[in-house]
Amino acid sequence: MKTWSLSILLPPILVSALALGQQTPQSLADAELPSLLAIYKDIHSHPELSAHEERTSTLIAKQLRAAGCAVTEHFGIYDKPELKGYGVIGIMKNGDGPTVLVRTDMDALPVEEETGLAYASKVTTKNDEGKDVRVMHACGHDAHIAAFIGTVRALAKLKDQWHGTIVFVAQPAEETGNGARALLKDGLYDRFGKPNFALGFHDKADLETGRIGVTEGYTSANVDSVDVTVRGVGGHGGYPHKTKDPVVLAAEMINMWQTIASRENNPIDPIVVTVGSIHGGTKHNIIPDEVKMQLTVRTYKADVRDRVLAAIDQIAKGIAAAAGIPAECAPIVSVAKDQFTPATYNNPELTKRLVAVWKKSLGNDNVEIVDPTMGGEDFSEYSLPGHSIPAVDFHFGAVEPAKIAEYKQAGKELPTLHSSKFAPVPEPTIRVGIIGMTTAVLELMKK
Ligand SMILES: [Zn+2]
Ligand SMILES: [Zn+2]
Repeated sequence: MKTWSLSILLPPILVSALALGQQTPQSLADAELPSLLAIYKDIHSHPELSAHEERTSTLIAKQLRAAGCAVTEHFGIYDKPELKGYGVIGIMKNGDGPTVLVRTDMDALPVEEETGLAYASKVTTKNDEGKDVRVMHACGHDAHIAAFIGTVRALAKLKDQWHGTIVFVAQPAEETGNGARALLKDGLYDRFGKPNFALGFHDKADLETGRIGVTEGYTSANVDSVDVTVRGVGGHGGYPHKTKDPVVLAAEMINMWQTIASRENNPIDPIVVTVGSIHGGTKHNIIPDEVKMQLTVRTYKADVRDRVLAAIDQIAKGIAAAAGIPAECAPIVSVAKDQFTPATYNNPELTKRLVAVWKKSLGNDNVEIVDPTMGGEDFSEYSLPGHSIPAVDFHFGAVEPAKIAEYKQAGKELPTLHSSKFAPVPEPTIRVGIIGMTTAVLELMKK
């Protein structure tokens, strides 16, 4: 290849580094990739459920130590004392300077893998209820771990280009929404310092591998779990006039809760109210005494969240009152405070800064602004209430472009995250994860 063609094919930052014979995030990602792919496949075939990441955390701790980090294992305190904290914190110090937190998650899901991959999981374990379940890395946290280890190795070798302290966080229990909170409860910021910036990443099941996608502002939602018990007066199904039927009341509530989005809420503020579970009654001809429902409620803004939760309560109680249920038997509406996940907010200024960096390191066409979702992600916890620590959680694509085109043409949906058929292509997915995270850290900590 003639030298002049290099500058056409490669981003300018890489061309100048190559001319000087320097190591770059790109060259280091390439060099580390074979060993990281082996680690990826090993973790993929040994998935562990949330709050049970024993093997995975041990592997990560070993890798962090090998790269020169001071490592703390078994970190994290859950509200439930029977759960063990398997968080791993790796501190990489390089003189005075900013503190940046870099986070990966570690846990897998109770899903039976159907990808047909050679390294597919065959793991069965008992869940916390004692039931046998199959386990799979169906959310790509294994790819995050491989890219995280690659980032640790790259930044250890690029110490001439940054200064300060990197707090590498391998977080347990993302899928259950309580892992980040467990680390903060164990004193993450008291013991290792409050970071100036927090960075996280997640693979994306509908974005081409090789590309980064990011959202400015809200990128994932506040997630609330609400339990509702509707109390009526049971009796014979043939004599409804002698009862107060909680099934009919529940049906009215479900419909009226949907009007919160359409009639009570400002349409430019996204909200979701989903009744995911409803149980009541035992038989055709018996009107039961009560009906129980479980709701997931998604919002972005804190004041919208407060209003939606209040409206759910008000509608339930209003419908019961209209049916003549006495106040002492009003529906019980409880919001599970320990299951709350705050919305993730990508600091707009920081996002713009990183987008510019990624365009330089991956090429303009490989960085895309993507839509936010109403999914939940407890990375938001690191930002603290009010998003006081600037944070960005970005995506890297995980799907072959040809596969995306094929599905689009056939009008089919690609396997989503959490699907038993979700199979990210390891390369260049992991490579782009490393480059994306390493260049972001270098930007925030450059000398
Ligand atoms: Zn997930
Ligand atoms: Zn995930």
